[in-house]
Amino acid sequence: MSSEINRKLNMGMIPLHAPEIQGNEWNYIKECLDTNWVSSVGPFVDRFEKEVANYIGAKHAVAVVNGTAALHTALLVAGVQPDDEVLVPTLTFIASGNAIRYVGAWPVFIDSEPLHWQMDPQKVIDFLDKKCGWTNRELRNNETGRRVTAVMPVHILGHPVDMYPIYEAAKKYDLIVIEDAAEAIGARYKDQMVGTLGDIGCFSFNGNKIITTGGGGMIVTDNEKWAERAHHLTTQAKSDPFEYIHDEVGFNYRLTNILAAMGCAQMELLESYINIKRGIAGKYDQALADVPGITLLKQAPWAESNFWLYTVLVDAASFGMDSRNLMRALAVKHIQTRPLWQPLHMSPVYENMPASQHSVSEEIFKTALSLPCSAGLDVKQQSKVIDALLQTAK
Ligand SMILES: *Cc1c(COP(=O)(O)O)cnc(C)c1O
Repeated sequence: MSSEINRKLNMGMIPLHAPEIQGNEWNYIKECLDTNWVSSVGPFVDRFEKEVANYIGAKHAVAVVNGTAALHTALLVAGVQPDDEVLVPTLTFIASGNAIRYVGAWPVFIDSEPLHWQMDPQKVIDFLDKKCGWTNRELRNNETGRRVTAVMPVHILGHPVDMYPIYEAAKKYDLIVIEDAAEAIGARYKDQMVGTLGDIGCFSFNGNKIITTGGGGMIVTDNEKWAERAHHLTTQAKSDPFEYIHDEVGFNYRLTNILAAMGCAQMELLESYINIKRGIAGKYDQALADVPGITLLKQAPWAESNFWLYTVLVDAASFGMDSRNLMRALAVKHIQTRPLWQPLHMSPVYENMPASQHSVSEEIFKTALSLPCSAGLDVKQQSKVIDALLQTAK
């Protein structure tokens, strides 16, 4: 039924990635309304945290209002200080970089590797080995003189980053590893869930992610002190159960019980959505493998993607049209597609950062296009997308 309403709302447009409300969402949310537990305390908040922690294999989880707040809080509890530097891929959603700025720290943008488009471990290692040095037992960026204290890999499009070499380098240089797994819940790296591969991990349940609470996020960590502090900071740092006494500047970042109820229902669907989306990706792969000018994102040997956004690269010369014109051609046929994010080093927000070469991410940015791949995409719709794409190819 929900996909029927969806279709009407979208006036026949095949959406890029729509929320799929297919389980107990109504029941659980009704329970909140019936019991009056609607706000930021309630049984579904605890349950959602436990379920995410159990599912991904972390000791603690703290539910927050969105993925950006999760990143902000994670950086705070990990102890990243103003004027520190944090390594982050340049090819990511702007929130990854912004969260670093919220704590007064500075992003250092790292280029992607060309095969899976993720943060390039070799470029992380090169930066640390060649561009940093130790002074007074602190690692500093030789160019800026700032302390380098953390690395934030981002599993873009639901495909895991090659984490071991990054984690190894981070530990060698005493850096904290904060995973931005906003897009990647359920993705696995060598059989281990993303979010548990560093010191602290963050997820998003925004409307366009694989599962959604409308807006929501989660911090996961094995570090009990960090989890406690995250809980404290996200509830206004109130330090007395009765009196309104606060021991530091906190935030109103807790997820409400209503949204957590939706999260519990969506968690029940996550594995089935991953399976459906694996099937959708497989079908696209098969149909597009031999189209001249189309490059597919292949899963790395270490990776089990959650197949969040199915994305291809479009070579203008051999395909006959560049990615943006292909986007327009498909829009005319009521098919919604989307380019990737402008790499952060090119963004007006970050244009005054030290210059560096990021040619791989620039090329991916220029050529990438994400195709419709909701868990609710039906066979007919996907065939329509494939046919439209093949008709557009020269
Ligand atoms: C969606 C997203 C975020 C932010 O999550 P919100 O819930 O939208 O605040 C952060 N990082 C990445 C990589 C994302 O895709």
